[in-house]
Amino acid sequence: MERTCRNTELSIKDVGRQVTLLGWVAKRRNLGSILFIDLRDRSGIIQIMVKDADKVPDIRNEYVIQVKGVVGKKEVANPNLKTGEIEIIADEIVVVNTAKLTPLIIADETDALEETRLKYRYLDLRRPCMQKYFDIRDQIKISVHSYLHKLQFIEVETPMLCASSPEGAKEYLVPSRLHHGSFYALPQSPQMFKQLLMVAGFERYYQVARCFRDEDLRADRQPDFTQIDIETSFLDQEQFLEMMEGLIHEIFMNTIGYDVKLPLRQMPYREAMERFGSDKPDTRFGIELKDLKEVFKDTTFEAYKSAETIKGICVPGVAAETSRKVIDNLTLEAKKFGLGGLAVLKKENGELTGSFVKFLSEAEKVALINKLEANDGDILIISAGAYNRVTPLLGALRLQYGKQLGLIKPNTYDLLWVVDFPMFERDVESGAIVATHHPFTRPKDEDLKYLDEDPTKVISYAYDIVINGYEAGGGTLRIYDQDVQRKIFNILGLSDAEVEKKFGYFVNALQYGTPPHAGMAFGLDRLAMILGGTDNIRDVIAFPKNLAGVDPMSMAPTEVSAQQLEDLGIVIKDKD
Ligand code: ASP
Repeated sequence: MERTCRNTELSIKDVGRQVTLLGWVAKRRNLGSILFIDLRDRSGIIQIMVKDADKVPDIRNEYVIQVKGVVGKKEVANPNLKTGEIEIIADEIVVVNTAKLTPLIIADETDALEETRLKYRYLDLRRPCMQKYFDIRDQIKISVHSYLHKLQFIEVETPMLCASSPEGAKEYLVPSRLHHGSFYALPQSPQMFKQLLMVAGFERYYQVARCFRDEDLRADRQPDFTQIDIETSFLDQEQFLEMMEGLIHEIFMNTIGYDVKLPLRQMPYREAMERFGSDKPDTRFGIELKDLKEVFKDTTFEAYKSAETIKGICVPGVAAETSRKVIDNLTLEAKKFGLGGLAVLKKENGELTGSFVKFLSEAEKVALINKLEANDGDILIISAGAYNRVTPLLGALRLQYGKQLGLIKPNTYDLLWVVDFPMFERDVESGAIVATHHPFTRPKDEDLKYLDEDPTKVISYAYDIVINGYEAGGGTLRIYDQDVQRKIFNILGLSDAEVEKKFGYFVNALQYGTPPHAGMAFGLDRLAMILGGTDNIRDVIAFPKNLAGVDPMSMAPTEVSAQQLEDLGIVIKDKD
């Protein structure tokens, strides 16, 4: 179609130029015989002035129109528009296509419910603020391709239809029509394939990879998501992290012009848990967790005597607002984490108050105030019990208060590596040993000796990159010795026979000259979220699912026909 340029390519320099523009009607105002139209295209908005309003066809919001006219200088510039100094004085307007009244307003500000936005996603995506998120997302990918190619990486696609393999989360399964009763699994990540590419000698691989995990959804999680998946041979941890820091620097610079200071600091996992109650700490504010075991060493309070861990936080200046309701909510929160309760104290006029005070000796009161560095007006929250329940609870409360009290400065970025993760952890519910990252993670050389006696003592070569409290990526050095790999599988409860059946091809491959290798994956969606400045992952995914895992537009997942089920040899037992 005839078009001279995009709207925002025009400026005051073009006054007098004859142009033809295409776009959508964002707004129209009829001032007697003069009609003003805001014309929106991919680049932005420009004002159209129609002198003889009666002569133009009926034009409504979101109609697609073609405008022919001359660029004019506006008498009073509009500072809110990039093209605010000019307007197009239209000679001719052609309606290219009409539009129904839209169920949501196509503008940055919207009061539409998210469900409506997702149902009419193609209209929601037409909003300029949404298109900006996708510009950022695209720019991240461009940066990834250019940075990695400069370093001799090669992009290789790996299969979507894979063999089922336990990697942590539940898998999405795809029934096979040709082999009834057999299933493909959608990849949780291309983990084994990328390692096999290292065995194959590619040395440096990457892929913008679609991944699938059937997990409970949250604001920062989607069932299908995208990773920047990377694998390298012959680099040690420091060399690899330095290379990845260069990538992150490039991404931040190219998307938001932010100069990330390198090298990033590294915080051991244990320290992150001790101080922040999280393996993805947001270190932009204080309220650190303090260990109170020493304070309560002579306690007479039964529940504290035997507690594995006693920790507390001091929340600044909220005592005045700390009503019964807040405390009840905190207690509920504690119950969710499987803890009996929380002790909540206030410091007022130099004294601690609250129902828990009666259990404290004078010495304990003083020690508590000192340890938590409490000032008047602060509240002190103490939790006791199992380490792996107390620390995340206090970490979650810390975060909640940090946000609630506005302690986090907007547009600040805090990046760090969390390193030295335990190789294994115990599943909170079942108590079973599970891999903290995944079974392919290499235990630290000096900890190999604990694999037999107490695997939970083993620290691994694993690292997560944490940005503003989000796990933006993670990876590990890999095991490249088949015996160690088998042993790890055994510890995770897989017998040799099961290993052979599920991972035989992989373990066998390790015997054919496997180079030492390391890799990681960045969450593209999370990076786009952080750099776009939204805390909703759905804003940076074109067609996402809602929190129930449903796409309100296409209504996926949907039932399928009896014939399709028949072809797949599937009988449905219970319908939802
Ligand atoms: N496959 C891992 C993940 O998806 C990342 C890695 O270790 O490279 O978390």
